[in-house]
Amino acid sequence: LQVKYGAKMPIHTPHLIVRSVRAFSDNYIWLIDAPLAPAHVVVVDPGDAAPVIAELQRSGASLAAILLTHHHPDHIGGVPELLRHRAVPVIGPDDTRIAQRTRTVRDGERCDLSELGLSFEILQVPGHTVSHIAFWGHGALFCGDTLFSAGCGRMFEGNPIQMNASLTKLRSLPPDTRVFCGHEYTAANLRFALTVDPANDAALEYRDKVNRLRAADSPTLPSTMGLEIRVNPFLRCDDPAVVRAAETHAGKALEDTAAVFGVLRAWKDQFR
Ligand code: ZN
Ligand code: FE
Repeated sequence: LQVKYGAKMPIHTPHLIVRSVRAFSDNYIWLIDAPLAPAHVVVVDPGDAAPVIAELQRSGASLAAILLTHHHPDHIGGVPELLRHRAVPVIGPDDTRIAQRTRTVRDGERCDLSELGLSFEILQVPGHTVSHIAFWGHGALFCGDTLFSAGCGRMFEGNPIQMNASLTKLRSLPPDTRVFCGHEYTAANLRFALTVDPANDAALEYRDKVNRLRAADSPTLPSTMGLEIRVNPFLRCDDPAVVRAAETHAGKALEDTAAVFGVLRAWKDQFR
């Protein structure tokens, strides 16, 4: 199968079949079944090649492309090894720290893999890293370490204004968007979310579901944007209860949502 870019997409965009592959202690590598190419998959953020290759062998699928959200080793570390098995396109953000990239994608651009029946819009979402991107298409969002269920990534390279803008951009996606994050952090995130916003009924209800899933060693992902808008304090920096909690924690009035976000993010960094 030859994967080219830029050709016309089929008119319908089917619901994607996505499998999770675990890596390291809490990473998820996502394998997307190519709707138009049976037994071909696209991998998102393969931090480790071994579990991906094991899943390909188990399922008899071939790798058709690699999508990367950001340069951190736990998201790209498996790329060289995967490319040794099969030379496939490597699509990622404009960042020299991703050496294996064969195609660079930027904000607002479409990433069409027509032969595979896949098409994603690229969303630039700086904050966790400056060049971080997310892939949005087919009702699914692959957002790496920008948005987690009930939380968000650490702000390694960006500032609160940038990262708050990135999360606000994601928040504007349709509520039924399925959210595929890079890590299983949901239970710990909910402990913080309920410290900030203890009377949030949706978060309390979600905690029960998450506890059940984790007790059965099942993923809590994908989430949906609609759920995240209700339970994730980092998407609720304009909610009066969240603003009040952030102001109490900071001991001062906060002038805008970015300031609220900055306080929440710093608070979470210290939270045990
Ligand atoms: Zn990361
Ligand atoms: Fe990560």
